[in-house]
Amino acid sequence: MKKFEALGLDKSLLDAVADLGFENPSEVQEKAIPILLETETDLVALAQTGTGKTAAFGFPLIQKIDSNSRTTQGLILSPTRELCLQITNELKLYSKYEKNVSTVAIYGGASITEQARQIKRGAQIIVATPGRMKDMINRRLVDISKIDYCVLDEADEMLNMGFFEDIKDILSNTPDEKSTWLFSATMPKEVSHIAKKFMHNPQEITVGTKNAGTSTVQHEYYVVGGRDRYPALKRLADTNPDIFAVIFCRTKRDTQKVAEKLIEDGYSAGALHGDLSQNQRDLVMNSFRKKQIQMLVATDVAARGIDVDDITHVINYQLPDEIETYTHRSGRTGRAGKSGISMVIVTRSEMRKIKSIENKIQQKFIPKKIPTGMEICEIQLYHLANKIKDTEINEDVEAYLPAINDVLKDVDREELIKKIVSVEFTRFFNYYNKAKDLNTSESGGRDRDRSNRGDTPTSGSVRYFVNVGEKDGYDWMSLKDFIRDTVGLNQDDVFKVDVKESFSFFNTDAAVTDKILATFTDLKVEGRFVNVEVSKNPGGGGGRRDRKRSGRSSGGGRDRSYSRSSGGRDRSKKRDRNQGKSENSGNRRSKKRKSNFF
Ligand code: ADP
Ligand code: MG
Repeated sequence: MKKFEALGLDKSLLDAVADLGFENPSEVQEKAIPILLETETDLVALAQTGTGKTAAFGFPLIQKIDSNSRTTQGLILSPTRELCLQITNELKLYSKYEKNVSTVAIYGGASITEQARQIKRGAQIIVATPGRMKDMINRRLVDISKIDYCVLDEADEMLNMGFFEDIKDILSNTPDEKSTWLFSATMPKEVSHIAKKFMHNPQEITVGTKNAGTSTVQHEYYVVGGRDRYPALKRLADTNPDIFAVIFCRTKRDTQKVAEKLIEDGYSAGALHGDLSQNQRDLVMNSFRKKQIQMLVATDVAARGIDVDDITHVINYQLPDEIETYTHRSGRTGRAGKSGISMVIVTRSEMRKIKSIENKIQQKFIPKKIPTGMEICEIQLYHLANKIKDTEINEDVEAYLPAINDVLKDVDREELIKKIVSVEFTRFFNYYNKAKDLNTSESGGRDRDRSNRGDTPTSGSVRYFVNVGEKDGYDWMSLKDFIRDTVGLNQDDVFKVDVKESFSFFNTDAAVTDKILATFTDLKVEGRFVNVEVSKNPGGGGGRRDRKRSGRSSGGGRDRSYSRSSGGRDRSKKRDRNQGKSENSGNRRSKKRKSNFF
């Protein structure tokens, strides 16, 4: 792998790279930057979301423009206001050691006069959404007749959003001899059409496979009755106490409704859709970005701008009409080298859509079962135990201890533990005790082979609890590899791996149980005992099935810097709808930029 120094960038830009904490260029950067620096060429670059495309065009653009001239020389078109602002901010960071480079953002929903004023002061680079750009051209507030470079960023999304005509109009105001650089996550025929129509012999760069969804994303589906979508969603959230997810609905109405219900049920959720004002949308997005909201319920259009790196789950509350849209949805997770899960709640009649998506993304879905009430209780119980273990002691409790000890003096340790966990457990237990099985079999009827008490073992398969999880740097892929390699098992012997924040579950065939338990007796990894026990709930989904995945990248390894504080959820009181005041806002550690994440 080349270093940034080998790509041909000037010292001022390399200094900015160092400040950003980027250690190695990503693949798209390594491929695109030298080409764009050395030649005047059109370029089509295909790379998934989160692979660092902004820097791939941003650095060459900044290096190539003439900073002594105030003329507008570069235009970047991007689909949403969010992305537009993000790109602008990134470019400002890239050019921090360049004197006189000015980048201006142009987007709807903000004062056009103010934007025009900034342009007038001189902007060598304009980052714009197509709608506002066209508006400003029509009002003669910008002049792009002398640009040398035009970047079409997230071209597939711009076309998805219906910006083809606007782009065409905008480009008709630019000189023919400019270079056009097109960046896109996917290559639907509309994008190749644009490339043919507006570009001359473009060079092509492809990172990963064309059209494919992100390979670090595991795709799962859950078959339920049409009326059980919401309870199914709740159970998925309850099984993943540290979830940080985008939930996609098809309509604005459903989006609003689902978000409201979640909030009413005590989850930390928010809605994002087009009927909200720009201001409301900004508020929700900010809370989500700061993780004050755990679950963002969104429409496809409103979610276009979401560019948050550590989304753990994408949940398709309903499937989209267009398959292409599914790719965009699932691409919101598994970014920046992390693994993610895209869950689909489907009814039996929608199963054929799953097949079409599989064909499109060239990846298999894993059929999963909505957890039973008792499985959820078990997960919550372990979660609580771990939370207690990891809680930092607040020394201010000291003063109250004598009195508290007095109250508890007749309770021994064992009883105390039982009591403490019962506080939480009973709440879930009461809720889920009589809860029905929500799963519908793909061929028809409710599944009969699992009772809601979860006490019917899946024949031949054993579920285990293990005391390591995300905070030890594991994701489902690396944990699976770890167990397989430690015990000496074959590729598919470990399955249904569910990694939680501080513990995990997995399954194997009963035949290897003794081997597993023997291996994990007194096994220390990096000074710490890794403890495996047979889980009291054998569930975790139906029988074994084909778990083949295609094109898995090896990037999903361990990452010890990754840590999230546990979710700010409290079902005992209804949440203030003003999500800005969520309880865990203050204590979040600032996220370190990662290097080597590809
Ligand atoms: P894309 O446009 O391909 O979706 P972005 O350009 O938005 O991706 O980059 C995704 C994230 O990765 C950003 O937070 C960015 O700062 C970071 N990033 C980009 N290049 C590198 C690198 N070489 N090393 C570390 N982080 C990087
Ligand atoms: Mg981008």
